[in-house]
Amino acid sequence: MKTIGLLGGMSWESTVSYYQIINRIVKQRLGGLHSAKCLLYSVDFAEIEVCQAEGRWDDAAAILVEAARSLERGGADFLLICTNTMHKVAPEVAAGVGIPLLHLAEVTADALLRQGIAKAALLGTRYTMEEDFYCGVLRRRGIEVLIPEVQDRAMINDVIFQELCLGRIEDASRRKLLSVIDGLRERGAQGVVLGCTEIGLLVPPQDGDFPLLDTTVLHATAAAEMALAR
Ligand code: GLU
Repeated sequence: MKTIGLLGGMSWESTVSYYQIINRIVKQRLGGLHSAKCLLYSVDFAEIEVCQAEGRWDDAAAILVEAARSLERGGADFLLICTNTMHKVAPEVAAGVGIPLLHLAEVTADALLRQGIAKAALLGTRYTMEEDFYCGVLRRRGIEVLIPEVQDRAMINDVIFQELCLGRIEDASRRKLLSVIDGLRERGAQGVVLGCTEIGLLVPPQDGDFPLLDTTVLHATAAAEMALAR
């Protein structure tokens, strides 16, 4: 089994889910007392969030590169950045280490293509929804990407940073998010990417027969598979 390096803490609320999912899959596959070999570097998310808000992405990249190097020195065979948003600096992180980075947007594109979804809606932080670093990966894989209207993007961004990353799960926010998802479905989305690792804590993984792809589940599952691959 390979050792997984997790760059987590962004926020720790969703890093908990990564740890649970990875260990559950390894236990299911290997049975008995088996569990995942992994290293976790959990950052102080307040430091990262300030860099995001002030547009200091180079500083955020430097923090993650340093953390990634310590995971590599500690014996990680490959690396995960446990947040969609911080994939904005994935190229810098990948270039800073000698081990592979399992890129979340690529894992998401794989899942969409596997499910035959050619037109997907994307929910996440405003950075993830509005910039190219994430949508661009999906588009280059031939997937059309829809994002919510501007006021809904602001609402979702607020829910992420003011509630979910603080461990607050509010029914009112769940209803608002589900109504945005309904609107995206009416606009022709064949499925919705829950492109923020905390959104799965708020909305159920499936809305009837309409696919909601939880990126935390996809990423953690891909990591477990990669760790177990021969
Ligand atoms: N975990 C979130 C994501 O997947 C948001 C927190 C962050 O800004 O990294 O994008």
